[in-house]
Formats: sequence, structure tokens, C-alpha cells
Amino acid sequence: MNETLPTQDLNIVHAAALVPVSDTGTARSGAAQNDLEIIADGALAIRQGKIVAVGTTAEVLADWSDPAVTTLEATGKTVLPGLVESHSHPLYGGSRHREYAERLGGATMAEVVARGGGIWTSVQTTRATSDAELLTGVEEALARMTKGGVTTVEVKSGYGLTIEHELHHLELLNAAAQNTPLRTVITFLGAHVVPRDLEVPDGVTPTDYYTDLVAGPMLDAVLAQGIADFQDVTVEAGDFTPQQALRVMKRSHQVGLPIRVHADCNNPSQGWQTAVAGGATSAEHLTYTPDQEITDTGPTDTVAVLLPVAELIYMTDKRANARLLINTEVPLAIATDYCSSIHATSLLSTMTMAAPWYQITPAEAIVACTLNAAYSLGRATECGSLDVGKAGDVLILNADHPEEIFMGLADEMLEKTIIGGAIAWETNS
Ligand SMILES: [Zn+2]
Repeated sequence: MNETLPTQDLNIVHAAALVPVSDTGTARSGAAQNDLEIIADGALAIRQGKIVAVGTTAEVLADWSDPAVTTLEATGKTVLPGLVESHSHPLYGGSRHREYAERLGGATMAEVVARGGGIWTSVQTTRATSDAELLTGVEEALARMTKGGVTTVEVKSGYGLTIEHELHHLELLNAAAQNTPLRTVITFLGAHVVPRDLEVPDGVTPTDYYTDLVAGPMLDAVLAQGIADFQDVTVEAGDFTPQQALRVMKRSHQVGLPIRVHADCNNPSQGWQTAVAGGATSAEHLTYTPDQEITDTGPTDTVAVLLPVAELIYMTDKRANARLLINTEVPLAIATDYCSSIHATSLLSTMTMAAPWYQITPAEAIVACTLNAAYSLGRATECGSLDVGKAGDVLILNADHPEEIFMGLADEMLEKTIIGGAIAWETNS
């Protein structure tokens, strides 16, 4: 986030429904994920970018009425915490629309990959794309995200896959983060896939060789650079095994970089149990995680980040079992997976789509895109709910009840995205 932007004072009053998603100190799971407090005639006071009061309009104005402060009338509106995007890959070159069109025409993913498609294509094109073009792509994506209600975003590297390229891409992500009002969390994803152009000594498999490179010299260089907030590793048949991923995770913990995991996106690969066993902050995708593995692993603080648009675009024959995860007391988050093959930037639309997709309630979906997503990024002390002391990151929607947002195309209902008390995007802006 650009620290030089002014932080603002703002009052929001007379909301038909203000939904604080109050933070009680942990991510929500089980019945708590379905518990949505609604304040009728709600109000909020923000001073110097932070929330100083939440309650009914009468309660808030009793202490914070001030004619010098901008006041937004929210009569007939729903007020939500700003959404927290917890899984995106906005730095990439090229376009994979052809490959998607081929898949829509009946080609399998294996056929597309055999013809040279998939993540490796993006690695090659990203390496060959100019810095200016990459940076413009990231900045345009971040701007579009604010139109979809996002106020905090996690951005991953992972289309470089050499020390030099990964460091450079992290630098570009950091440069983009300085030039946006969004709060940003930067993740190093060296262990995305194994690069195909790796020169491997005799007697060692490419995956083992690359695992040691990522967990050793690449991680050391990323730490010395000091930009990354997380390290991410893929646990997937054909990419990294649970044992290889645990090697990366162990080293990452030793040096103090918390872990996220790409888990079970294409196959049941023991990704969920590996993420939990390795102490990951989050595990993401979980499309093919077997029910038995969720039940056996049991309740955990590791946040399950589900990516419904990825399941839609990849035309998977399975969906993550959101209901079982919630019932097993696993905190659930939802993200877009914006990347070289998925161009969804609206977390608001993704949130509303996730409800029927997974058959979860509006309350569960809202918690998933706010408080739980903030916990999945280690940023819950700062954002994810409308609580006193947190940032004034707020959405104003043209709906008099939060459930109404789920009945149509949600983006059409968003009127304002507010970050730190300042309007980052508004209708017709
Ligand atoms: Zn991803």
C-alpha cells in the first residue's frame, strides 16, 4: 500500500443494514461462520483512516457528529467490510484465451498441456515480457479489483521460477503495491511448478533438484530481498509431493516466512493434510481433497481458501466440499484465483457465485471473503471486519439487506469501495 496517501476522516450514517462481521480474535468456523450480525440504521465513524465507532446512527453520532467531516448517507444501503482477496497471480505475460477456447471446444487439459499450454507457457511468456508491460498488467488488475469490492489483496509471484526472475517479479509486485490504495500482501511462489528448462545433474530427479533450489538458495535470496510476506508451495501429483513440500515448508518456518499451499487443484494429492501437518496458514483450491481426508484431519486453524471460478473455468468434475470443511470446524475463505488463465477480478461476484456453487449461505460467503480471508493473510488485526481500531475499509451497496446482494449480478449493486476512509472507486467514477 502506498503509505503516502492521505488517510481520511469519514462518517457513514443511516445504513439500512451494517454488517460488522465482528472479530473475536480467531477466524470463524462451524456455526460461527454462519452468524451474521446486522445493525439496522447503522453507522460508522472513521478518523485518520481507522474505525473509531460502529453502532446505530444515534450511538455513533452522539460522540462523533462533526460538521467538518464528510458524511455519507447510506439510507437503503448495505454496508460491508471491504473484501479481502486471498489468492491472485496478477503478474503474467501473454494470454491463454486460445487454450481456454480449445478446452471449451472439447480438448482435455492434458491435450492442451501436451500442445505446450498450461502454466509453463505463462512462465515463458512472462519471462519475455517487458517490465513496463508486466507492471501495467498488474496495475490494471488491481484497479479492476477495487471495482469488485476488494480493499486488501494477496499477489503471488510464480511465473519466473529462477532466482533472478522470481526476485525481479517480486520487485515489480512491490512497485505495483506502492502505487495502489489497496493493502497488499506479497507471496513468493517459487514452488509453483517445476520449470521444464532446468539443467539437472545426473542422479537426481528434476523435482528433487528444484525443491532443494527453492528451499535453499532461492528462499535465501528472497529473504535477503525482504519483500515477500509468505511462501507458497504446490502439493499436487505431477508437481511437488507431500514430502518435497514439507521440506520447503520446514525451511520456510525455520527462517520465519509463513506458508500458503496450492493443494489438490487437479487430483487428490494429500495437499490438505500436508498443509495442516506443515503448519500452513492457508491451503488453497482443495477441489479434489477427499472427504475422508477432511474428516481425518479434523478441526484446524489452517484456513481453507476455495476458488470457485477456477473450478468453473477448469471445468472440473468435482467441487471443494465447503459444507464438510465448515462442519469440520475449518475456517473457510473464498478468492478469485485471478491469474494467466482466469481473468476474474471481482471478488464480490465470486462471493455471490460461491453461495449456490458450494451451497453455502450468504452469511458463510460474506465471512469467507472478509474476516476469514484476512486471517488467511495474517492481517486480521488490520482489516477484514468493521471493528474499532481496524482500517476504514468499507463497501456501500445498493441493497437494503446483505442477502439481497446474492440474488443477482453483485457488481451492479456496488456503489463505493472505501479504503482507509478514502473512496477508492465509486459508481460512474
Ligand atoms: Zn493459484
